[in-house]
Amino acid sequence: MAQQRCRSVLITGCSRGIGLGLAAGLAAATPAPDWVIATCRYPEKAQELQQLSKQYSNIKLLQLDVVCESSIKKVVKEVEEILGDKGLNCLINNAGINVVASLEEVTAEAMLTIYETNTVAQLMVTKAFLPLLRKAAQLSTGMGCHRAAIINMSSLAASMQLVTANEMFLKVYPYRIAKTALNMITRCLAADLKVDGILCISLHPGWIQTDMGGDMAPLQIQEAIPGILSVLANLSEKDNGSFLDGQGGTLPW
Ligand code: NDP
Repeated sequence: MAQQRCRSVLITGCSRGIGLGLAAGLAAATPAPDWVIATCRYPEKAQELQQLSKQYSNIKLLQLDVVCESSIKKVVKEVEEILGDKGLNCLINNAGINVVASLEEVTAEAMLTIYETNTVAQLMVTKAFLPLLRKAAQLSTGMGCHRAAIINMSSLAASMQLVTANEMFLKVYPYRIAKTALNMITRCLAADLKVDGILCISLHPGWIQTDMGGDMAPLQIQEAIPGILSVLANLSEKDNGSFLDGQGGTLPW
């Protein structure tokens, strides 16, 4: 029988910021997924996430450093044991870093560092979870988070058409270029995995007050999360391969 509910979500980078907010929002949602697998690289230091996992029985906290191959392998095994035959419905590639550098400041090292965490890691994590996403896709119909979906946390700064729209972004060569490459990953996966019934989008969550977003950001995490969750809940075939914002609007590539 077709299953129309998102049973399981895995989020990377849940120690703080948007990842932590998403884990909290999903755990308390109605209906809530059976499993919110909230991963972070240093669980022992992630006090708020630890608290959250004690508060909600559907949160499972697992260790995952997205740039570490052995950590990825280990977490896939653990998730497989938890989810069994049902597979994974939704993978949110949220973990990321920011490296700010103008044209004068940018170095090869900065470019490679950010590319590893904000681009390569998303592809490797996705590749590792594909068998579980495929398993989930086989149990349902249509397209969306109820079946199988990959959400890549991108940024408005990655839009090539809006390259001069915000002067602030001109000083962030490493970050915006890595996120533009991530957008290409989204397009490739959306085209490649359509046949499996797995949806893939890039999402600009909004400019949000986090360690990365800074104090000037207009949105607090609690204000932004409901919009993002609503966008995720309403994804369907027409959204496959698109670049959306936290309100469901479409952004130009
Ligand atoms: P934060 O800097 O607040 O949090 C980043 C998270 O990513 C932390 O949990 C951090 O873990 C984790 N992380 C970094 N590297 C790794 C790694 N190697 N393995 C596992 N986890 C890692 O950022 P935000 O919450 O603001 O951003 C979340 C996502 O949203 C990012 O991809 C960002 O680019 C995107 N975004 C954010 C915007 C904003 O306004 N805030 C705007 C547009 C996009 P740790 O605590 O261990 O460092």
